Amino acid sequence: MMTDIKSMTLEEMTAALATLGQPAFRGKQVFTWLHRGCISFDEMTNLAKPLREKLKTEFFISVPQVAMKQVSKLDGTVKYLWELGDGNCIESVLMQYHHGNTICISSQVGCRMGCAFCASTIAGKVRDLTTGEMLDQVIFSQKDSGLEISNIVLMGIGEPMDNLDTVLQFLGLVNHPDGLNIGMRHISLSTCGVIPGIERLSELELQLTLSVSLHAPDSETRSKIMPVNRAYDVDKLFKACHRYFEKTGRRISFEYAMIDGVNDHDWQADLIAEKIRGMPGHVNLIPLNDVVESPFKPSKRIAAFQKRLESHGITATVRRSLGGDIDASCGQLRRKAMENEKGDGQL
Ligand code: SAH
Repeated sequence: MMTDIKSMTLEEMTAALATLGQPAFRGKQVFTWLHRGCISFDEMTNLAKPLREKLKTEFFISVPQVAMKQVSKLDGTVKYLWELGDGNCIESVLMQYHHGNTICISSQVGCRMGCAFCASTIAGKVRDLTTGEMLDQVIFSQKDSGLEISNIVLMGIGEPMDNLDTVLQFLGLVNHPDGLNIGMRHISLSTCGVIPGIERLSELELQLTLSVSLHAPDSETRSKIMPVNRAYDVDKLFKACHRYFEKTGRRISFEYAMIDGVNDHDWQADLIAEKIRGMPGHVNLIPLNDVVESPFKPSKRIAAFQKRLESHGITATVRRSLGGDIDASCGQLRRKAMENEKGDGQL
């Protein structure tokens, strides 16, 4: 079995190279090459040829292929559908903001969380991504677009907390000074509310931004649209969020997709405010993306809901929608590809 070298830490690489009689600095050389988007050991010109040949027999370098690419004419947003080594496909979206270029990456092939409005979960989860496959989305989006990426959001396909060990390894790698060196404060992780994951993150006290996909403040509504609420009830979720803030001092961002007649009532805004009270939460109102398979429609009450939240002293913003002319909402492009190929998730 060949080893996936990009999923390794610098220490692991250095140790592996030491067993081949190589000095410590070799690990760093290889690490830097890989994180710059090197696709073959032959490109590593500061390594002797026999060493490159030896490495080829023990390790492989993952190289995702661009299966589809859409570029928005409106704002330059780029959506990638990547084909992985085993034929599975995932998506990433590259958005250009004033504060820097942001890549939204996937953490799993599909998702098993079952949110009723979400395109990523319709066909369930196929498998977890590897550390290297998460890294590749950053490395190769940057390489393909020529845009330097300064921010990462884990808001693509999949539930990061359902693949947390790998996600944590990824964070360590992408943050590494000899690699992409992206600061934790430039990284956001979004969860549908898997409480043990939030608790684990609290313990680590990372400086990243935690986003919680709330979508309803009351158990009844939330259980209807988010099955995860039946395992981790919204009241317990808020308790975990308050503990997270106490421990890390980091403000949580609550994601809230506005669904017509489901979660857009004033009493729900009041309840959100009541449950956030005591910590500096921020509510990000998202215009619902119309997913063809879903019965839900976008709410027309976004501005009123925002006002209502603000009347309670809660900071609420409405997400600016980028890439409106392409399938920029995660899961949609992969769905399209799956339909074309009779639903096996592969191209
Ligand atoms: N599993 C994680 C990461 C996915 S992030 C999570 O649930 O947070 C993707 C974000 O987009 C989540 O907040 C998700 O709830 C939201 N989302 C999913 N489908 C959507 C839709 N049709 N319209 C608007 N937002 C949607």
